[in-house]
Amino acid sequence: MQYISDPGLISTEYAQNGLRQEIDAYKNRRITNDLYTRSLIGPLFYMIASGLTISLADYFQGRIWLLLIPGFIFLLLWWQRYIHTPPEPGADKNEYQRWKKQQWRLIHLGALIWSGIATMTACIELRTNNAVIVTMITTIAFSTAASHSFAMHPMQARLCIIEFVLPSTLVYLFYAVDLRAIGVTICIYFVYLMMNLYGNAKEYRKQIDTEVMLIQSRADLAQLSLTDALTGLPNRRSYEATWNHIWRIAARKNDVLGLLIIDLDFFKKVNDQFGHLAGDACLKHFAQILRQQIRRDSDVVARIGGEEFVAILPGITIELAYTVAEKLRRVLEEMPCEIATQKIYLTASIGVGIADWGRDKIPADTFHRVDKACYQAKNEGRNFVKCA
Ligand code: GH3
Ligand code: MG
Ligand code: MG
Repeated sequence: MQYISDPGLISTEYAQNGLRQEIDAYKNRRITNDLYTRSLIGPLFYMIASGLTISLADYFQGRIWLLLIPGFIFLLLWWQRYIHTPPEPGADKNEYQRWKKQQWRLIHLGALIWSGIATMTACIELRTNNAVIVTMITTIAFSTAASHSFAMHPMQARLCIIEFVLPSTLVYLFYAVDLRAIGVTICIYFVYLMMNLYGNAKEYRKQIDTEVMLIQSRADLAQLSLTDALTGLPNRRSYEATWNHIWRIAARKNDVLGLLIIDLDFFKKVNDQFGHLAGDACLKHFAQILRQQIRRDSDVVARIGGEEFVAILPGITIELAYTVAEKLRRVLEEMPCEIATQKIYLTASIGVGIADWGRDKIPADTFHRVDKACYQAKNEGRNFVKCA
């Protein structure tokens, strides 16, 4: 999550983990919200349908008050679904699982109660009258709605449709003989519904995949805009955001925070002598050395200019920072960039400093002091480490 909202703060591993978490959280949120909103209205339709059925059924004439019972039950069910709101954003996987399980219990309960009413009506009335027609049409409507609305969980949706259709259809087929032809018709429709559900589930998955792809490509673009194309290191933009972030946290906690600014020496000459492509290879070569030499999890390296690099070293004293810089300088000096048969020897001038919480008021203050040290290192002969 932080990856998207804070695109400047990157380390590849952090970015990938952050993105994976963001995608998982998005999927969970999307599916649970869909399940919540799509199942909310159901009990109100059950209430209307049961009211109509009872008021039309011969058996219930004179006992109309009975419709208060399903009315009350469905109202209670609606209330239960209403208050069972999806987990807050940021909830973990288990919370989502628990929520879905309970939500499906409430959905199945509604389907079974309605199915009970439809089956009972068929058993009592035994012929095609208005009450039976109402229960048949509404059962078909409810199961069709389930196949569309619950495509996010096809197995559960399948079970739900079976709960709607099976009990009353068995009665139409084997008990209320006058209704057998209708029972057969419903069986055919049931097959269609199952196939329809398969298509809907595929469609739903595709839609989620497309949305995930959009999140992914947005993250890729953010990543690209923060990475230096030549060396693969974080670029200046990324460095600025990271430095400001780390600096402010360290300032608040009064922690030590080291910074190296590295400028390759006479790089113009490298280009002039060996060509621009060789110059590029040298920059990649140095980036490689920088990565190898500065590799604590909390360290950050970046290319902030043509042949200028930085290393942010949290929690490090000036003595240690100097040792790191001196080793980096030596390794670079001793390890030439090899291109075909050529060996190009490089050196660097390095400014080293730590944040001085008494003097530095903003992150740029520390940077400027260390940058000055880097210039002094140049003036003192290059291939040199200078402390701020
Ligand atoms: P100094 O020791 O004073 O730092 O001398 P320098 O030549 O390194 O410094 P200067 O800033 O004058 O020149 C930097 C050179 O780096 C100029 C430019 O041609 C080269 N450069 C900058 N970016 C790139 C790049 O992406 N690829 C290549 N090959 N060269 C680059
Ligand atoms: Mg320079
Ligand atoms: Mg230079």
